[in-house]
Amino acid sequence: MSLVLQDVTVGPKAGNPLFSALSLRIAPGEVATLMGPSGIGKSTLLDAIGGHLAHGFAVSGTVALNGRDVLRQPAETRRIGVLFQDAMLFPHLSVGDNLAFGLVPSVRGAARRAAVETALDQAGLAGFAARDPATLSGGQRARAALMRALLAEPEALLLDEPFSRLDAELRAEIRGFVFDHLRARKIPGLMVTHDASDAEAAGGVVVQL
Ligand code: ADP
Ligand code: MG
Repeated sequence: MSLVLQDVTVGPKAGNPLFSALSLRIAPGEVATLMGPSGIGKSTLLDAIGGHLAHGFAVSGTVALNGRDVLRQPAETRRIGVLFQDAMLFPHLSVGDNLAFGLVPSVRGAARRAAVETALDQAGLAGFAARDPATLSGGQRARAALMRALLAEPEALLLDEPFSRLDAELRAEIRGFVFDHLRARKIPGLMVTHDASDAEAAGGVVVQL
Protein backbone atom coordinates (compact mmCIF):
# COMPACT_ATOMS: atom_id res chain seq x y z
CA MET A 1 0.00 0.00 0.00
CA SER A 2 1.53 3.31 -0.96
CA LEU A 3 0.38 6.90 -0.85
CA VAL A 4 1.48 9.00 -3.80
CA LEU A 5 1.06 12.77 -4.03
CA GLN A 6 1.68 14.37 -7.38
CA ASP A 7 1.88 18.17 -7.76
CA VAL A 8 -0.45 18.66 -4.81
CA THR A 9 -1.23 22.02 -3.29
CA VAL A 10 -4.15 23.69 -1.54
CA GLY A 11 -5.42 27.22 -1.31
CA PRO A 12 -8.46 29.43 -1.18
CA LYS A 13 -10.71 28.88 -4.20
CA ALA A 14 -10.38 32.53 -5.10
CA GLY A 15 -6.68 32.93 -4.27
CA ASN A 16 -3.15 31.65 -4.69
CA PRO A 17 -1.92 28.21 -3.58
CA LEU A 18 -0.62 28.22 0.00
CA PHE A 19 2.63 26.43 -0.94
CA SER A 20 4.52 25.17 -4.02
CA ALA A 21 3.08 21.97 -5.41
CA LEU A 22 4.34 18.91 -3.59
CA SER A 23 5.17 15.46 -4.99
CA LEU A 24 5.85 12.61 -2.63
CA ARG A 25 5.71 8.81 -2.58
CA ILE A 26 5.23 7.12 0.78
CA ALA A 27 5.91 3.38 0.77
CA PRO A 28 3.92 0.82 2.78
CA GLY A 29 4.76 1.19 6.49
CA GLU A 30 6.85 4.30 5.89
CA VAL A 31 6.12 7.57 7.70
CA ALA A 32 6.94 10.77 5.83
CA THR A 33 7.26 14.03 7.74
CA LEU A 34 5.85 17.38 6.68
CA MET A 35 7.36 20.47 8.33
CA GLY A 36 6.89 24.17 7.76
CA PRO A 37 5.87 27.42 9.40
CA SER A 38 2.52 27.88 11.08
CA GLY A 39 -0.20 28.88 8.64
CA ILE A 40 1.58 27.49 5.54
CA GLY A 41 -1.24 24.98 4.96
CA LYS A 42 -0.05 21.70 6.50
CA SER A 43 -3.35 20.93 8.24
CA THR A 44 -5.30 22.07 5.19
CA LEU A 45 -3.29 19.64 3.05
CA LEU A 46 -4.11 16.77 5.41
CA ASP A 47 -7.77 17.85 5.38
CA ALA A 48 -7.73 17.71 1.59
CA ILE A 49 -6.18 14.23 1.53
CA GLY A 50 -8.58 12.93 4.18
CA GLY A 51 -11.60 14.43 2.43
CA HIS A 52 -12.42 17.12 4.98
CA LEU A 53 -11.34 20.24 3.16
CA ALA A 54 -13.05 23.39 4.49
CA HIS A 55 -15.50 25.23 2.26
CA GLY A 56 -13.78 27.94 0.29
CA PHE A 57 -10.62 25.86 -0.19
CA ALA A 58 -9.59 23.81 -3.20
CA VAL A 59 -6.96 21.15 -3.80
CA SER A 60 -5.06 20.58 -7.02
CA GLY A 61 -2.89 17.71 -8.21
CA THR A 62 -3.51 14.02 -7.62
CA VAL A 63 -3.38 11.76 -4.59
CA ALA A 64 -3.30 8.03 -5.24
CA LEU A 65 -3.67 5.41 -2.54
CA ASN A 66 -2.88 1.91 -3.77
CA GLY A 67 -3.63 3.20 -7.23
CA ARG A 68 -6.99 4.76 -6.31
CA ASP A 69 -7.50 8.44 -7.17
CA VAL A 70 -8.70 9.44 -3.70
CA LEU A 71 -9.46 13.12 -4.36
CA ARG A 72 -12.40 12.00 -6.50
CA GLN A 73 -13.84 9.89 -3.69
CA PRO A 74 -15.97 10.98 -0.72
CA ALA A 75 -14.19 10.85 2.67
CA GLU A 76 -16.11 7.71 3.74
CA THR A 77 -14.69 5.54 0.98
CA ARG A 78 -11.11 6.84 1.00
CA ARG A 79 -9.92 4.49 3.79
CA ILE A 80 -7.71 7.22 5.22
CA GLY A 81 -7.45 7.60 8.99
CA VAL A 82 -6.45 10.71 10.90
CA LEU A 83 -4.81 11.22 14.29
CA PHE A 84 -4.87 14.68 15.85
CA GLN A 85 -2.97 16.47 18.57
CA ASP A 86 -5.74 15.97 21.09
CA ALA A 87 -6.31 12.22 20.74
CA MET A 88 -10.01 12.96 20.91
CA LEU A 89 -12.20 10.23 22.34
CA PHE A 90 -15.96 10.73 22.53
CA PRO A 91 -16.64 11.70 26.16
CA HIS A 92 -20.14 10.17 26.24
CA LEU A 93 -18.92 6.70 25.15
CA SER A 94 -16.93 4.16 27.15
CA VAL A 95 -13.36 3.40 26.04
CA GLY A 96 -14.59 0.15 24.46
CA ASP A 97 -17.41 1.89 22.58
CA ASN A 98 -14.95 4.51 21.37
CA LEU A 99 -12.85 1.75 19.82
CA ALA A 100 -15.92 -0.04 18.44
CA PHE A 101 -16.83 3.20 16.68
CA GLY A 102 -13.89 2.60 14.35
CA LEU A 103 -15.14 -0.84 13.30
CA VAL A 104 -17.08 -1.35 10.11
CA PRO A 105 -20.79 -2.08 10.82
CA SER A 106 -20.55 -5.55 9.28
CA VAL A 107 -18.51 -6.70 12.31
CA ARG A 108 -21.30 -7.49 14.80
CA GLY A 109 -22.00 -8.90 18.24
CA ALA A 110 -19.37 -11.19 19.72
CA ALA A 111 -16.93 -10.52 16.85
CA ARG A 112 -17.24 -6.82 17.60
CA ARG A 113 -16.49 -7.29 21.29
CA ALA A 114 -13.57 -9.60 20.46
CA ALA A 115 -12.05 -7.07 18.02
CA VAL A 116 -12.27 -4.35 20.67
CA GLU A 117 -10.76 -6.62 23.36
CA THR A 118 -7.85 -7.52 21.07
CA ALA A 119 -7.19 -3.87 20.26
CA LEU A 120 -7.37 -2.88 23.96
CA ASP A 121 -4.93 -5.66 24.74
CA GLN A 122 -2.51 -4.44 22.06
CA ALA A 123 -2.74 -0.94 23.54
CA GLY A 124 -1.92 -2.17 27.04
CA LEU A 125 -5.51 -1.40 28.03
CA ALA A 126 -6.86 -4.89 28.72
CA GLY A 127 -9.92 -4.63 30.97
CA PHE A 128 -10.50 -0.96 30.15
CA ALA A 129 -13.57 -1.45 27.91
CA ALA A 130 -16.10 -0.04 30.39
CA ARG A 131 -13.92 2.88 31.52
CA ASP A 132 -14.89 6.52 31.04
CA PRO A 133 -12.27 8.05 28.67
CA ALA A 134 -11.90 10.97 31.11
CA THR A 135 -10.18 8.57 33.54
CA LEU A 136 -7.37 7.68 31.10
CA SER A 137 -3.87 9.13 31.27
CA GLY A 138 -2.54 11.05 28.26
CA GLY A 139 -0.56 8.05 27.05
CA GLN A 140 -3.51 5.68 27.44
CA ARG A 141 -5.75 8.09 25.53
CA ALA A 142 -3.20 8.39 22.72
CA ARG A 143 -2.92 4.59 22.41
CA ALA A 144 -6.72 4.19 22.47
CA ALA A 145 -7.09 6.83 19.74
CA LEU A 146 -4.58 4.98 17.56
CA MET A 147 -6.45 1.71 18.09
CA ARG A 148 -9.76 3.32 17.17
CA ALA A 149 -8.19 4.64 13.96
CA LEU A 150 -6.64 1.23 13.14
CA LEU A 151 -9.88 -0.70 13.75
CA ALA A 152 -11.32 1.15 10.76
CA GLU A 153 -8.61 -0.64 8.72
CA PRO A 154 -7.28 2.49 7.02
CA GLU A 155 -4.99 2.12 4.03
CA ALA A 156 -3.13 5.31 5.01
CA LEU A 157 -2.88 7.36 8.20
CA LEU A 158 -2.52 11.13 8.48
CA LEU A 159 -1.01 12.49 11.69
CA ASP A 160 -1.41 16.18 12.50
CA GLU A 161 1.07 17.06 15.28
CA PRO A 162 -0.10 13.94 17.10
CA PHE A 163 2.52 13.94 19.86
CA SER A 164 2.83 17.63 20.63
CA ARG A 165 0.79 17.54 23.85
CA LEU A 166 2.85 14.72 25.33
CA ASP A 167 5.91 15.24 27.53
CA ALA A 168 9.28 14.06 26.17
CA GLU A 169 9.30 10.58 27.72
CA LEU A 170 5.70 9.77 26.79
CA ARG A 171 6.23 11.28 23.37
CA ALA A 172 9.04 8.86 22.56
CA GLU A 173 7.00 5.90 23.85
CA ILE A 174 3.79 6.79 21.98
CA ARG A 175 5.44 7.60 18.70
CA GLY A 176 7.34 4.31 18.83
CA PHE A 177 4.01 2.57 19.43
CA VAL A 178 2.36 4.38 16.51
CA PHE A 179 5.22 3.85 14.05
CA ASP A 180 5.56 0.16 15.01
CA HIS A 181 1.88 -0.42 14.28
CA LEU A 182 2.06 1.35 10.93
CA ARG A 183 5.13 -0.64 9.95
CA ALA A 184 3.61 -3.96 11.05
CA ARG A 185 0.43 -3.30 9.08
CA LYS A 186 2.25 -1.77 6.11
CA ILE A 187 0.22 1.42 6.32
CA PRO A 188 1.87 4.55 4.86
CA GLY A 189 1.78 7.58 7.17
CA LEU A 190 2.04 11.31 6.57
CA MET A 191 2.93 13.22 9.73
CA VAL A 192 2.97 16.95 10.41
CA THR A 193 5.30 17.98 13.21
CA HIS A 194 7.49 20.86 14.35
CA ASP A 195 9.76 18.50 16.25
CA ALA A 196 12.95 17.25 14.57
CA SER A 197 13.09 14.24 16.90
CA ASP A 198 9.66 13.09 15.64
CA ALA A 199 10.96 13.26 12.08
CA GLU A 200 14.11 11.37 13.01
CA ALA A 201 12.14 8.67 14.82
CA ALA A 202 9.82 8.30 11.82
CA GLY A 203 12.87 7.61 9.68
CA GLY A 204 11.11 8.52 6.42
CA VAL A 205 11.51 11.37 4.00
CA VAL A 206 11.21 14.90 5.44
CA VAL A 207 9.48 17.55 3.34
CA GLN A 208 9.78 21.23 4.16
CA LEU A 209 6.90 23.38 2.95
P1 ADP B 1 -0.77 24.99 9.29
O1 ADP B 1 -1.42 23.68 9.67
O2 ADP B 1 0.39 24.81 8.37
O3 ADP B 1 -0.39 25.80 10.48
P2 ADP B 1 -3.37 25.60 8.20
O4 ADP B 1 -3.53 24.58 7.14
O5 ADP B 1 -4.11 25.38 9.47
O6 ADP B 1 -1.83 25.86 8.46
O7 ADP B 1 -3.86 27.00 7.62
C1 ADP B 1 -3.47 27.50 6.35
C2 ADP B 1 -4.15 28.81 6.09
O8 ADP B 1 -5.55 28.61 5.89
C3 ADP B 1 -4.03 29.82 7.21
O9 ADP B 1 -3.92 31.09 6.65
C4 ADP B 1 -5.34 29.66 7.95
O10 ADP B 1 -5.67 30.84 8.61
C5 ADP B 1 -6.28 29.34 6.84
N1 ADP B 1 -7.41 28.49 7.25
C6 ADP B 1 -7.32 27.27 7.82
N2 ADP B 1 -8.54 26.72 8.03
C7 ADP B 1 -9.43 27.63 7.59
C8 ADP B 1 -10.86 27.67 7.51
N3 ADP B 1 -11.62 26.65 7.94
N4 ADP B 1 -11.43 28.78 6.96
C9 ADP B 1 -10.68 29.79 6.53
N5 ADP B 1 -9.34 29.81 6.57
C10 ADP B 1 -8.71 28.75 7.09
MG1 MG C 1 -1.83 22.81 11.53
